[in-house]
Amino acid sequence: MSNSILDDGGDFQTRKVGPDQYEMHIPIPTNDGLVGRECPNAECSPGYFKVKLGTGLTEGQVLAYCPYCRQEGEPNDFTTQAQIDYALSVLKNEVVKGIDKSFQKALGLGSSHKKTYGSGMFKMEMTYKSSKPDYVPRPLEEELRRDIICPNCGLEHAVFGLATWCPDCGKDIFMCHVETEFGVIQKVLSIVDKRREELGARVAGRDIENGLEDVVSVFEAVLKIITIKHLANNGMSHDEISKRLEKIRNSYQNINSAGETFHAQTGLDLFHNTSQDEVETLRTIFEKRHPLTHNLGVVDKKYLERVRTGDTEGREIQVTAQEVEIAIGISKKIISSVYNLCT
Ligand SMILES: [Zn+2]
Ligand SMILES: [Zn+2]
Repeated sequence: MSNSILDDGGDFQTRKVGPDQYEMHIPIPTNDGLVGRECPNAECSPGYFKVKLGTGLTEGQVLAYCPYCRQEGEPNDFTTQAQIDYALSVLKNEVVKGIDKSFQKALGLGSSHKKTYGSGMFKMEMTYKSSKPDYVPRPLEEELRRDIICPNCGLEHAVFGLATWCPDCGKDIFMCHVETEFGVIQKVLSIVDKRREELGARVAGRDIENGLEDVVSVFEAVLKIITIKHLANNGMSHDEISKRLEKIRNSYQNINSAGETFHAQTGLDLFHNTSQDEVETLRTIFEKRHPLTHNLGVVDKKYLERVRTGDTEGREIQVTAQEVEIAIGISKKIISSVYNLCT
C-alpha cells in the first residue's frame, strides 16, 4: 500500500517533496483578474487593495508596497487573511479526500464502498461513508473600489480609499488617485442629459447636486491628507496631528475658511497658483451646496448674504453640470499646485 495521502498532479499540481511533505499550487480566485492584497501593518486603514497579476513589475520584484502607508515587504507578506483561509480549506478538502481513499483501499472496499464477510446465518457487512468535503467559500472582497493604472510602472490595481503609493514601484501617485476620484464624478455628469430624458428633470438635477456635494467632499478629504502629510514631514507627532485635525473640522468645505485654515496649519498659501477670479468662481459654486444640502434646494437668507448671484430667496437654486465641471477643474489646479509645495 502506498503511504501517500495525496496523489501527484491533479488540479493543484500536487507533488510529494519529502516523506511527509507535499507541495500544492492553489490559485486564488480573482475578480476581473485582480488579486486582493492586505497591508502587513495591522494599524493601516483601509489596508486592503488589489493588483492585476502580469501588470507593473513582472520580473524580479523583491519588494512590494502598501498604497496607503508605504509599508514595504516581500510580495507574499501582502496575502490576505481571506486568501490564507481559502487555501487552508482547499487543502483540508484534498487531505480528507486522500484519507478517504487510503481507508477504502486498506479495508479492501470496492467501488460500492461495501464489503461482506461470511454467509448464511453469520454475515457481517462493513460500509464506509466518506466525510463530505466542506463547502469552500471564495474570498470575500468588497466591490466599492477605485481602479487605477500606475503611470510609472503600468501596474493595474484597485484601492478602497484615497491612496498615495504604487504597490509595485513604490512611487508617489497621489495626484493620479485624485484625478480618478474626480473622474468618477465626471462620469456621472456625462450622462446627465440621458438621465433627464429617461427619468426626468428632478433626477438629473439630483445627480448634479450630488456631483457638487462629492466635489466638495473630495476637495476636503484631499486637503486634509495634504495637511497631514505636510505636518508629518515637518516632524509633528501622530497625536499632535490628530489634535490639529479636530480643529480643522469641516472648514475645508468652504473656500474662504479653507484658505485661512490651510494657511494657519501649514503657513502656505492655498491659492498661490490660482487667480483671484478662479478662487471667486469656486467659492460661488461651492456655496451653492449649502442651500442645496440643508434646505432641499430652496435659497435661504443666509445664502443670499454670502453670494450675490441674482438668485431670489425662495426660488429653487440652480447648479449646472457645467458649473460642477468648472469646480472640478479649479479644485484640481489648487490641489496639484499645493501638493507639489507640500511634498
Ligand atoms: Zn499600509
Ligand atoms: Zn508603479
